[in-house]
Amino acid sequence: MQSNSMIINRRSLLFKIIFGYGILFFRPKHLMAASLNSHPDWSLSKADWKKRLSQEAFTVLREEGTERPFSSPLNNEKRIGTYHCAGCDLPLFSSTSKFDSGTGWPSFWEPLPDAIATKVDFKLIIPRTEYHCIRCGGHQGHRFDDGPRPTGKRYCNNGIALSFRPLS
Ligand SMILES: [Zn+2]
Repeated sequence: MQSNSMIINRRSLLFKIIFGYGILFFRPKHLMAASLNSHPDWSLSKADWKKRLSQEAFTVLREEGTERPFSSPLNNEKRIGTYHCAGCDLPLFSSTSKFDSGTGWPSFWEPLPDAIATKVDFKLIIPRTEYHCIRCGGHQGHRFDDGPRPTGKRYCNNGIALSFRPLS
């Protein structure tokens, strides 16, 4: 009985080790692949995206670039309305969740439901939560945990990745 139980324990330990390493190796890859899961209608080639977007918008949306702070007119936009993805026009944020973060980028404390997806990026070595339009996969910005209430989140968005539609 004792030896059987030892074998089971060893198997269980081996399983835990393999499973543990599996998570270690596969989880980051799974997260990194998130922005590729765009809607099939929006799986455009690089050349097609270049035709649709300005060079600056292409760099941000399709190559995860970051615009210069205070460069977007949307940073100071205060009208009531909706912020849409500049790549595919999906509504991403309401003006009701916009706030002045002082960073020089349009900032929101909450996206619209089912509008964005996130992944972890290591561009600055320290892991950051990148987010993108759930439909076309276009990069929008990064999410931080120092935002205002009620969510405590700060969605730091590139203005060039958005188009604003005033309500009136
Ligand atoms: Zn989009």
